[in-house]
This record gives sequence, C-alpha cells and structure tokens, in this order.
Amino acid sequence: MKSVLITGANRGLGLGMVKYLTQHNKAQTIFATCRKESEELKKLAQENKHLHILHLDVTNTASYEELSSQVARVVGAGGLNLLVNNAGIATKFTKLNMVKVEQLVDNLTVNTVAPIMLTKSILPLLKQAAEANKEQPVGARRAAVLNMSSILGSIAQNDQGGFYPYRCSKAALNAATKSMSIDLKKDNILVAAMHPGWVKTDMGGKGAPLNVETSIAGIFETVEKLGEADSGKFLQFDGTELPW
Ligand code: NDP
Repeated sequence: MKSVLITGANRGLGLGMVKYLTQHNKAQTIFATCRKESEELKKLAQENKHLHILHLDVTNTASYEELSSQVARVVGAGGLNLLVNNAGIATKFTKLNMVKVEQLVDNLTVNTVAPIMLTKSILPLLKQAAEANKEQPVGARRAAVLNMSSILGSIAQNDQGGFYPYRCSKAALNAATKSMSIDLKKDNILVAAMHPGWVKTDMGGKGAPLNVETSIAGIFETVEKLGEADSGKFLQFDGTELPW
C-alpha cells in the first residue's frame, strides 16, 4: 500500500497496526492519528520518517476537514489507499437496569458517528487513490475503508444480551459499513467491517485469548487478500466471514 490512516493509533490495536506496518514495510506513508501520542508511538515516528502523527479526537467532527487537508498535503495527487476507523470505546456495564443515556450516546458518537463522518471527509482522498491506482484490482492497494467492528455488534450471534451501548454502536457501524460498500462500489472503493478477535488491550482486558501481534498480523493478511467480492462483508481477523 502507498498510504494508510489509522485512528486511535497511540495504544492497543491501533498502535499494533502502526508497528506491524513499519516492521513489515507495508506502507509508504502512515498517518497515525490520536488524541495524545504515547511514548511508544513518538519513538516509532522518530525511527520511521514515513510515519506521521496527526492529532485527532474523533468526537471533534469539526476538525475533520483540517485533518483531511493535512493528509492531502502529504499524499498529493496519490490520495489515500486505506482508512482504518479503529478508535473505539466500550462501556462495560451490561444490564438493562444499569444502562445510562450518556453511555449509549458516547458509544454511538465514537463508534458509529465518527467512522461515518470521517469516511465522508476523507472520501475525496480515497477516490483520488482509486483513480491513481487504476491498474490495481479493487482492494486495499487501490482504495479501502476498514471499520473496526466487534462480534458484540452481531445481532445473529448475540446469545448473552446486555452490553447495550457497545453492541448497539457496533451493530450500527455494521449497518453503515454495508451502506458504504454499496454507495462506494461505483468509485471502486472497498469497505469491510473487521472483528479483531478478543484481544489483550486495555479494552479487551488481560484475560483475552489473543495478543495484539496475532490479531494484527491476521487482520493485514486478510485485508491484503480482499477483493471486489468482499466489499460489504463482516470479517474476523483470520478471514472468517461473520453473521451480521
Ligand atoms: P483500546 O481501549 O486499547 O484503545 C482504544 C483506542 O481508541 C485508543 O487509542 C483511544 O485513544 C482511542 N479513542 C477512544 N476514544 C477516542 C476519541 N474520542 N478520539 C480519538 N481516539 C479515541 O481498544 P482496542 O485497541 O482494543 O480497540 C480498538 C478497536 O477494536 C475498537 O474499535 C474496539 O471496539 C475494537 N475491538 C476490540 C476488541 C478487543 O478485544 N480488544 C474486540 C472487538 C473489537 P486514547 O488513548 O486517547 O483514549
């Protein structure tokens, strides 16, 4: 890939993606966006001149145009190949009698509204990449959006109930993923929803079975294989298709 932008790249899976891309030389330009860079991300940027740290609180939708301009200044006419909507929050309380309005609204704002509105702002750059890489088949080498979803957003696989704020926000993100895949088909932009597995991060917790490295390697191996027929799918890190 020529260029990738990842939100929430200071820790967890987002930082894992940046590390993977730099270690394996998978992208010519990487935009790691975050509210505040971690020491680890700062160090990576010092060691990798093609890694750009940009500040973005995804709830600040008014700042998206400026972010988009900053990216455009670096990539020029080549556009942006891959947008990874990774930043997310998860309210842990699960029960109907505990759920609060703010929890529902906060999860929806970060996990659903932000990915939709950021994709809207970045769209001209994705279109540019799709045009500039016409010789490539539809996929991440041309132009793609990867929405980090969760199996907890699957309605079909919900057999435990609860988790209202998080489940609803990721189910809504899945609905948005499907619509984007249909709307952007004519522009040759692939869109997919990705469940990273249950991963040891601040969000996943120490008891999670997967480490960040395994999840991220699986995600990028899967992403590299995606083609036109995969647009609009809900996939797990290892490439397994999940029910909506
Ligand atoms: P973490 O909690 O470890 O990291 C969350 C990231 O999102 C941080 O970089 C955080 O930044 C960022 N973020 C949160 N709110 C904002 C905001 N308003 N603006 C900008 N950045 C923000 O989570 P993971 O790395 O585990 O999760 C990454 C994605 O994967 C999420 O979308 C999550 O829902 C999904 N996922 C994770 C699973 C897991 O088991 N870990 C399972 C299924 C899905 P900051 O440091 O500033 O808070």
